[in-house]
Amino acid sequence: MLNIKFKTSLRCSFCSAKKKELIKVFIFDSDLVCNNCIIKILYIYKIYINFKNAKNTQQLIVTPKNIKYYLDKYIIGQEEAKQIVSVSIYNHYKRLILSENKIEVNKANILLIGNTGTGKTLFAKSLARFLNLPLAIVDATSLTEAGYVGDDVENILTKLLQKANFDLNLAEKGIIFIDEIDKISKKSIHNTSITRDVSGEGVQQALLKILEGSYVNISTQFGRKHPENPMVSINTKDILFLSGGTFAGLDEIVYNRLNVSKIGFNKKRKDNKKELFDSLKSEDLINFGFIPEFLGRWPIICQLQNFTEKEYKEILLSTKNSILKQYKNLLKLDKIDFSITKKAIELIIKKAMKLNIGARGLHYICEKIFNKYTFSFEWFKKKQIKLTKKAIQKII
Ligand code: ADP
Repeated sequence: MLNIKFKTSLRCSFCSAKKKELIKVFIFDSDLVCNNCIIKILYIYKIYINFKNAKNTQQLIVTPKNIKYYLDKYIIGQEEAKQIVSVSIYNHYKRLILSENKIEVNKANILLIGNTGTGKTLFAKSLARFLNLPLAIVDATSLTEAGYVGDDVENILTKLLQKANFDLNLAEKGIIFIDEIDKISKKSIHNTSITRDVSGEGVQQALLKILEGSYVNISTQFGRKHPENPMVSINTKDILFLSGGTFAGLDEIVYNRLNVSKIGFNKKRKDNKKELFDSLKSEDLINFGFIPEFLGRWPIICQLQNFTEKEYKEILLSTKNSILKQYKNLLKLDKIDFSITKKAIELIIKKAMKLNIGARGLHYICEKIFNKYTFSFEWFKKKQIKLTKKAIQKII
């Protein structure tokens, strides 16, 4: 890239200083640059190259803005949550550096509250990709406290270890996403299991230990601890936990505390959902059924918003691995391409919004459409499908 030229009385193209020795930078073709400026250029160029070829994302120069820049490529909307999460991941990085120097900083586990299909799991997946760390996704509803039928809480760590290809060091810096965390509240209506502890409180208690950071003995194989299964001790101090849940009924608890009457205020109550969350207090989550110690392990709480029509469109078309791009790639393997009309896109979005399951609605409808085409692709004469409103109306 660089070629040093020795010429007299030339000017640096950047700072205009007259220098004897100038460096030719091929990327700027004929431009000649002095020693001082080349350092600045290389710095800027390095950032540019890093973003462009971010295969090894750990090479990225990490700042909260860079993290958000990365998340923006995969996650549409959710601006506030992306900002909060970016800062907390940035702090997580710093925490890991400080912890190597034996300075302790508290862990910032993140609790995401949002309806189905608003991107809670996507947050966890995108972060794991960004940090280049192993990610284990578990469902809180399958967890039980020790002694009951179901998954021991320690199995979460076994899963992480497996995702890290049994590299204990790597697993100890990994990410765990616990989905449906709201279902282990003390009074959860979903918690009707007879095989699990009756309240869900036992699971919260069991999770406390691994959330906080301690050495836990785990089996390297799933299932119950068995004397013949090899055991390993894993330190959870640097494992980042994310959790997500819809928290149905939480708004009612906040309304009650704020004393907003049910009758006559429905419109106002619906419009104020975001403001309502802004006034969320820890006592509301305790009333929801979290024990205070458990809640204390989730210092960062973000709310994910429902999508607007424009955001639905972006999710369908614009992200790095948007839903339609995914189907394009799938069909490419069958040497089939497709085009889609504006009206067809509008119809898909309209139908998806009606389903009220967030972006999952888009997946559901697209799956229906493409399933039909994929089933009989070998009979297609033309290798180009045109998805019009009329064509997809027959399918969905
Ligand atoms: P949740 O965990 O909130 O129920 P997911 O994160 O599993 O939802 O989302 C399901 C799918 O919907 C994702 O795989 C992704 O394709 C799409 N999706 C959801 N939220 C977003 C978003 N904010 N931006 C882009 N795609 C999204």
